[in-house]
Amino acid sequence: MIADPHCHTVASDGMVSPAELVKAAVDAHLDLIAVTDHDTMDSVNEAQSHGESAGIVVVAGQEVTTKWPSQTHVMGWFLDKPVKRGMSVEDTVAAIHDQGGLAIIPHPFMPVYFGSIQPGMLRRLIEKHSIDGIEMGFTVPTGARRRRMLNDFYAANRERLGRRHRLNECARPRRDHRP
Ligand SMILES: [Zn+2]
Repeated sequence: MIADPHCHTVASDGMVSPAELVKAAVDAHLDLIAVTDHDTMDSVNEAQSHGESAGIVVVAGQEVTTKWPSQTHVMGWFLDKPVKRGMSVEDTVAAIHDQGGLAIIPHPFMPVYFGSIQPGMLRRLIEKHSIDGIEMGFTVPTGARRRRMLNDFYAANRERLGRRHRLNECARPRRDHRP
């Protein structure tokens, strides 16, 4: 199965409508996508109905922004309703799990001050909550040292980190795209 479980639409900072997203996924021969807009699920229903006609699975998701100042992103998959933004990383993961969703860490260890979880934060998080997956490949280049750091972290903590994902964001980001 080929999947792209990290997709943005015009509901946040993606460039495509729900219909265009599903068409792009079909053209790329994907079997499954997850709609994970920043802090909204507004495109989910429309994408799911297009997915149904096109014969691909569209997972209801959201990329949740956690509290200031780090505003780390946490992805939820299989959500029934949006998760509130602005909570701690720990409470965000708990809120995703409370509604039966899966919590995934997108684009970890990027050399930025917000949006991307850092090793100390991830260590503290997985002491409290296991997560269900972590992106190990993503569109933003991070450099060899950070890549090694991520691989080493994964190897040392794999039983608390769920499955590894190698993803591309199928909706091409605009230039002002948040990570
Ligand atoms: Zn993000």
